[in-house]
Amino acid sequence: MLPSTFNQDGSASPGQHLTCFIIDGRVAIDAGSLGMAATPEHREHVRDVVLTHAHLDHIAGLPLFIDDLFSFLKEPIRIHAAPSVIEVLERDVFNWDVYPRFSELTNENGPVIEYAPFPISSEFSAGHLSIRAVGVNHKVPSVGFIVSDGRSKVAITGDTAEMDIFWNEIAKEEGLSALLVECAFPNEMADLAQVSHHLTPERLAGELEKIGDIDCPVYCVNIKPMFRETVIRQLAELPGRQPQILEVGRVYDL
Ligand SMILES: [Zn+2]
Repeated sequence: MLPSTFNQDGSASPGQHLTCFIIDGRVAIDAGSLGMAATPEHREHVRDVVLTHAHLDHIAGLPLFIDDLFSFLKEPIRIHAAPSVIEVLERDVFNWDVYPRFSELTNENGPVIEYAPFPISSEFSAGHLSIRAVGVNHKVPSVGFIVSDGRSKVAITGDTAEMDIFWNEIAKEEGLSALLVECAFPNEMADLAQVSHHLTPERLAGELEKIGDIDCPVYCVNIKPMFRETVIRQLAELPGRQPQILEVGRVYDL
């Protein structure tokens, strides 16, 4: 997970405003902090970006990432997203007013971006990965992903409130290496969590009961930075299974 908040000395801090995971140094899942926090190696090798939904904290770094690489790209950056998310990007982000419409621009090697709309619930390829998008329960059309490189398999919920279809799909998966789940708000903000379609530690506990004894580590992500300490404390106080917290900037070998 790339960093998106910073200490006074400029070093990365653990708070997570924006969401972006880099898998195998090559594929980005969401692009919240991609343009701001990508390393030179990421800029050289990441050419596939896979989006859960169009909320700003998941796409903010995408225009900047493309902008940085514009003159250097030898192949387009492929943006994998549901058709409705691509529509939002073209209408509300890459519309010349907010940022250039990169889909109409080329460099000396050709197009700089390419949209790759993915179907819900069937497999598609992004770089070397095989991915299945499964609908989740968020305020806008959103998906979670089951991502496989043929060796390891990771499930990522993206932003969501309580749901069933995603958990049913997880239950069918064998050999899951890790599950990343959101937990945005503390328990006392359950009302806000409900209207914004997010989870709290208590609600997350109810969700994890739906998948029973899943045999892989569970990591919490997308914790609102202003409530991070409270959410972490409440997660640690949960009876039964206590998820870990995914650490910003740490490389996980799954
Ligand atoms: Zn969202």
